[in-house]
Amino acid sequence: MGELLTVMAEENPFESLQSQLDAAAAHLDIGDDELTRLKHPQRILELNLSVELDDDSIGSFRAFRSQFNDDRGPYKGGIRYHPGVSRDEVKALSGWMTYKTAIVDIPLGGAKGGIVIDPAEYSEAELERITRSYAVELRPIIGEDQDIPAPDVNTGQREMNWIKDTYETLENVTEPGVITGKDLDSGGSEGRVEATGRSVVLAAREAFDYLGKDLEGATVAVQGYGNAGWISAKLIDEMGATVVAVSDSSGGIYREAGLDPATIKDVKRDQGSVVEYTAVDEMITNEELLTLDVDLLIPAALENAIDAEIATEVSADVISEAANGPLTPGADEVLEDEDVLVIPDILANAGGVTVSYFEWVQNRQRFYWSEERVNEELEAIIVEAFDDMIEAYEENDTANLRTAAYVVAMQRVINSYSEGGNWP
Ligand code: GLU
Repeated sequence: MGELLTVMAEENPFESLQSQLDAAAAHLDIGDDELTRLKHPQRILELNLSVELDDDSIGSFRAFRSQFNDDRGPYKGGIRYHPGVSRDEVKALSGWMTYKTAIVDIPLGGAKGGIVIDPAEYSEAELERITRSYAVELRPIIGEDQDIPAPDVNTGQREMNWIKDTYETLENVTEPGVITGKDLDSGGSEGRVEATGRSVVLAAREAFDYLGKDLEGATVAVQGYGNAGWISAKLIDEMGATVVAVSDSSGGIYREAGLDPATIKDVKRDQGSVVEYTAVDEMITNEELLTLDVDLLIPAALENAIDAEIATEVSADVISEAANGPLTPGADEVLEDEDVLVIPDILANAGGVTVSYFEWVQNRQRFYWSEERVNEELEAIIVEAFDDMIEAYEENDTANLRTAAYVVAMQRVINSYSEGGNWP
């Protein structure tokens, strides 16, 4: 019964996206039809993949690709493998990608894909067949000028390489820019793996600066220890902050004197979870981590980590959203009343797609950049986007930074659409 109630109370991410867009639209000169267009995907592909499994049976997997908007450039966004993937989740994530590429002002649109699967239950050979079968279905609608997928939850370089190879084989082309997040030898970019975490901490640095707070010695809690979480922990530690708590789906650990992010990463890799690291003051739950009295909280897991109820207990001063959609609209309202500064996902975690953009540019030019150049250009883009958001926040007196970021991003999408006119 308790579980059922939790499921029922869970926010629908697509409704969250729509209410975020409505809040920003109140500050824009926009008609009803135009707003409807900005709140819905342009096209959704829904699939049932049939794939032979290792025991010779045929497995069936639901999969999606939502192409939300391409007014500003080709559709762009990751592919996630997770049992919780749903049509509405993928729709929401594709919308968030649209406004993410717009707030950082890179010439791309927004999309997202997903397969309903727990990859831990399948062999590598099975995952390769499932991924290639998905790539075959995606082939007609992707391409370096159409739609460019990338990694997301539970996917990485390996899956990107498989998709690139399937696409190039079927199309008989060499077109590495059809997908980003590849490994370096397959046309990937320096700095791509670290890029999401890097923007999360750059955005936090800008926010601390805006508040006149010192990052040096600040305490940090990180929820989720996948790529975005662990890299955020590593980089914020390098900036002089103290990571006092981290967690993953098995629970969390707390150490007042600070945790060494790389050591915890090794423990998770070798033993499956951060909770196997025992040289700590206390084992904590995810909820306890989210409500710790820290200077900076980084939610780096999935959607809806903080709802209105948990938000009333949050004691952090700043939240930098590494995950997509970790706060519900109800949580936003509570946190704005409590003066917690929330740096929205569409800006904080935009480093991933920004370096994907650099990867795509390098693929098309057949000319590759140094890691130093990637990081410098990324920093310039994140700092400028942060300034654009703050300007909109102060000019429009929006309720929070999220609405300010959407005001800027939606206006950019509206401009490119209306300036292009419409083809009958
Ligand atoms: N999955 C990442 C995101 O949510 C990266 C997307 C991309 O690089 O296209 O932003």
